[in-house]
Amino acid sequence: MTTPMMQQYRIIKDKAPDAILFFRLGDFYEMFGEDAEVAAPILQIALTGRDAGEGKRIPMCGVPYHALDNYLSKLVKAGNKVAICEQVEDAKDSKGIVKRDIIRIVSPGTLTESVSERSNHYLASVYYHEQWGLAFLDLSTGEFAIFQTADLDVLLTEVSRINPAELLLPPELLKRPKLWIGYYCTVREQKTFGGQAMRDHFQRQESLFQEFPIAAKAAAGLWNYLLETMPGVDPTHIVEIKTYRSERWMFLDQWTRRNLELTESLRGGSKKGTLLSVLDLTKTAFGGRLLKHWIDKPLLKQVEIEERLKSVEELIADSFFRNDLQKLLSEVYDLERLMGKVSYGTANAKDLLSLTQTLALLPDICMILTSSSFETLKIKVPYLKGLDLFVTKLQNAINPNPPLSLREGNIIKTGYSKEVDELRKIATGGKEWLAQLENAERERTGIRSLKIGYNKVFGYYIEITHANAHLVPSDYQRKQTLSNAERFITPELKEYELKIIGAEEKLKDLEYELLLALREEVRANTKKIIQVAQVLAEIDVFVSLAEVAVRNHYVRPQIKTDGQILITEGRHPVVEEMIEQGGFVPNDTHLSGSQHLALITGPNMAGKSTYMRQVALIVLMAHIGSFVPAKKASITLVDRIFTRVGASDDLTAGQSTFMVEMQEVAHILKYATRNSLIILDEIGRGTATYDGLSIAWAVTEHLVQHPEFNPKTLFATHYHELTQLQDDFSGLFNLHVGVKERGEDIIFLHKILPGRADRSYGIQVARLAGLPQELIQRAKSLLLELESSEPVHTEDAPAKVITQFTLFDVPKTHPLLQEIEKLPLEDMTARQALQYLFDIRERI
Ligand code: ADP
Repeated sequence: MTTPMMQQYRIIKDKAPDAILFFRLGDFYEMFGEDAEVAAPILQIALTGRDAGEGKRIPMCGVPYHALDNYLSKLVKAGNKVAICEQVEDAKDSKGIVKRDIIRIVSPGTLTESVSERSNHYLASVYYHEQWGLAFLDLSTGEFAIFQTADLDVLLTEVSRINPAELLLPPELLKRPKLWIGYYCTVREQKTFGGQAMRDHFQRQESLFQEFPIAAKAAAGLWNYLLETMPGVDPTHIVEIKTYRSERWMFLDQWTRRNLELTESLRGGSKKGTLLSVLDLTKTAFGGRLLKHWIDKPLLKQVEIEERLKSVEELIADSFFRNDLQKLLSEVYDLERLMGKVSYGTANAKDLLSLTQTLALLPDICMILTSSSFETLKIKVPYLKGLDLFVTKLQNAINPNPPLSLREGNIIKTGYSKEVDELRKIATGGKEWLAQLENAERERTGIRSLKIGYNKVFGYYIEITHANAHLVPSDYQRKQTLSNAERFITPELKEYELKIIGAEEKLKDLEYELLLALREEVRANTKKIIQVAQVLAEIDVFVSLAEVAVRNHYVRPQIKTDGQILITEGRHPVVEEMIEQGGFVPNDTHLSGSQHLALITGPNMAGKSTYMRQVALIVLMAHIGSFVPAKKASITLVDRIFTRVGASDDLTAGQSTFMVEMQEVAHILKYATRNSLIILDEIGRGTATYDGLSIAWAVTEHLVQHPEFNPKTLFATHYHELTQLQDDFSGLFNLHVGVKERGEDIIFLHKILPGRADRSYGIQVARLAGLPQELIQRAKSLLLELESSEPVHTEDAPAKVITQFTLFDVPKTHPLLQEIEKLPLEDMTARQALQYLFDIRERI
């Protein structure tokens, strides 16, 4: 016979077979059997055993209930699901074993504990039927959005942007596992991507679901998962589903987001060294999250950008009010996450107090906004009003220093409820009475050490040491003997005890109920409070952008549609911060419809990448509505920014560098338009020299020879041959980065200058990098040899050039060489020559 408790455990465990079951027993969550064996090493807790009946022992481990958050997030972050099983009835009311049930199943996407404050934590869901539907939700803040597209690339880019902690998929989509590499996927039955529950919750949004039926399916799948994993929770803080259309935001593909290090650095994926880290002086957690969104989604509409720029400008102009706002914002708590807790029923008195303190700042914030000259921000004031009475009520209700537990009392302020005040008087009054009784009994018995104490088993008692036992009066009843004392009760003491304890119990219950009622009231105001959070987040971001602009000397960009990018003395916002003050060399940029492709040459380390990224970042910042690091900037609206930078090794997908490089180029050529900005940092380097040159050459031609295409492009290359293209195509012009030679050394000037670089200085750079002297000498003589034979100029793999070079060592009788000898080279264009090269290669 197994014990009744273990029987109960088995029944519950069967309900969530793929999750580790946290089984609540008293003050602990216990795990048994295999669950315990999996969890113990991850949580670094001791594995013990428990009698499971019939003399069998099963492995067991446990964690204290008050440390749930920590242990839970450890297990879930390690890729496990955890089912939390609680007592669902009061032990007082139960006959036999207390009823227990699963109240929540926590998976990576539904974890709300210990998630990063400054970034979102998404649960996402994808559905496909002729179109792709995506839904994603941040449970801790209530942000819920859907997106629909016919293009798989666009969908995957969106998924990578939100980087979900968990992705729900119907079984059919799991058949294409390559698409979902790197995500924690949970398969859900096809039929769970439908039904009425989600539509019922968001009744007023029916037209949205009509418009995006496939995204609505994804959303339904997500919603049903939520209901299933959080039974009994009513997620009221999720008030609406948003959608976004690609027309409103600039679409940034994953390569561009990574290469430009917008919110995560290339190395390590941290925030350090990113555009976000430079722009983020936000004071609130939700402001930080909003700024990240803005950076990920630059605007495309001129009026919207201008509106943001105006807000930033107004805040810059008024440093006094800006400082005041910053001070107030730094006292703001994370309203979105607090509302999440309210909605899950986990908010305690401290949380409500934080909420109250935050809402109490609103009148001051409104006052600043109305009394200043902030035209654009003034409009927000009405959204921040209307909560005063409610705030006053909360302020009057909650004790300024409440305990974490809801059941311990001490939550409600005196003066809020007559009943609470009366019970409290009895409870504390009773204690005074006890003190008096203690004094009186000491006098009556003559025992100075007589004490009145309390414990859970006997209630109040009088304690007398053995030494004084002979002085105990006859009306004392002995209750307990300790090693050095004895404990007694008297009828008088018992009578008072009932009264006090009764009052204390009642008081705790009442305070608990009052707090729940307050929490309900807060919950009833969810929509309004979420709105307040959104407005405060926006203000916070504007203040942050203004502060950064002032500190870093940015200017307001002019937003135009004239097809020109004109930057005077532009700087790289991140690199300039890493270089000692004044050390960054600013550079100009001018790209237009007629001169739209700049080919940039210059040695390694000269500053080509920095320059190109700086242009991309300035253009992007302008589209966010931020001021930009330059003396002057006039930026035409661009529809997209593309980058192909360096050798970004896509190791997760197990592809070769060259393959990835070519995919990126293909992607750019497919999606770029005449209104796009393209950054190409070396292409063709991942393959043999001639292959690489040919590809770079052909790509360059493609970008300049179609007048209706003509995207604005910055292209850094080591193939100096390409610079001749300037003669053939008027849209292309050469730039180079200045260097100064001093003896054997070169000095990088970091200055972008017109025209092509005359040499590549690879050997000097190698010398600077500390290669041994003999090696440098050998390289020099090889270079001389190679240059006299006019091979392709490149610093790439000289060994390869030599192999190609030996081709010419074959006897001159070779028919190919004879053919080459006869070629009318003088009359051939560069393109024809290249074509000829291709032909030869075909024949080899
Ligand atoms: P390249 O792409 O030509 O190899 P990078 O752009 O990577 O060179 O620049 C190399 C280093 O030179 C950067 O890490 C930076 O420290 C410095 N640098 C680049 N541009 C500038 C500049 N405009 N002013 C000052 N230092 C710069």
